[in-house]
Amino acid sequence: MTASIISGKEVAAELRQQIKEEVHALQDTLTPGLAVILVGDNTASRSYVKGKEKASKEAGIYSELTEMPSDITEETLLNKVEEYNHQDDIHGILVQLPLPDHISEKKVIERIAPQKDVDGFHPINIGRMMTGQEAFLPCTPFGILQMLKYKNIPLEGKHAVIVGRSNIVGKPVGQLLLNENATVTYCHSRTADLKHHTSQADIVIAATGKAEFIKQEHVKEGAAVIDVGMNRREDGTLCGDVDFEEVKEKTSFITPVPGGVGPMTITMLLYNTLQSAKKHAGVRNS
Ligand code: NDP
Repeated sequence: MTASIISGKEVAAELRQQIKEEVHALQDTLTPGLAVILVGDNTASRSYVKGKEKASKEAGIYSELTEMPSDITEETLLNKVEEYNHQDDIHGILVQLPLPDHISEKKVIERIAPQKDVDGFHPINIGRMMTGQEAFLPCTPFGILQMLKYKNIPLEGKHAVIVGRSNIVGKPVGQLLLNENATVTYCHSRTADLKHHTSQADIVIAATGKAEFIKQEHVKEGAAVIDVGMNRREDGTLCGDVDFEEVKEKTSFITPVPGGVGPMTITMLLYNTLQSAKKHAGVRNS
């Protein structure tokens, strides 16, 4: 079996067009606003922030970038977040992670007003998601769910195996699939016999940060495979956590890297910012 490639680019382009149209329709009421805070000069973080700014602009979302040096105090950063919490033209706040070691990410995330937490990392939004209430969903897991739905990949009653249990990807994507009535297994670095679990999965989500780690032997014939990983090979080229060339021969659906999950993450950030702005303006979803 040769897999159908799920193009995150294609799904993202369609969703971004819908977002752009909704933003346009709102123009007489308000312009959605996203504040992004970048601390320090991490090259990868800077490039993610640039991508978010560009995408916001294209969708007609106002975006404001605050750059802070890596030696700022935690207090200064918390105060900036607080300022944005009260700024009426800002509907979403994103603090680009990771932060320097002397700043507590937990404290910073908890300072963001939950109604502006468009990254979906605040414990209140996580708790709401876990209890099936309306919440800002974390962008990468939310994007993965959108791709699976776009391709009509059945979730209910299916066995999803998540490889990775981070707070930003592994744990929430498992929760979202559980909310869709999938049966979910989490695997991690201490899992004994990973292959035993992954090879039973109807859906494998790879989020380990280990380049081309998931091989053909890890997946069963006809499984759908979502590759969250973004890694650099020794020659500098980008690759995922899945050995794409090898695994695609065995699967029904697979996401490429680049062009898979990545474009969806930014798209869901735009989506969450739009939802926040609509809520602020009292506009209901049709
Ligand atoms: P983390 O490093 O926070 O988590 C990695 C997870 O993988 C951990 O739970 C770890 O287990 C598990 N793991 C590591 N080695 C193994 C192994 N040998 N077998 C089984 N499990 C293992 O990474 P993130 O979740 O933040 O990110 C994962 C990947 O996704 C990265 O490549 C990252 O760059 C990418 N990413 C991509 C995004 C996108 O938009 N496309 C967004 C966010 C991340 P343990 O908990 O036991 O340590």
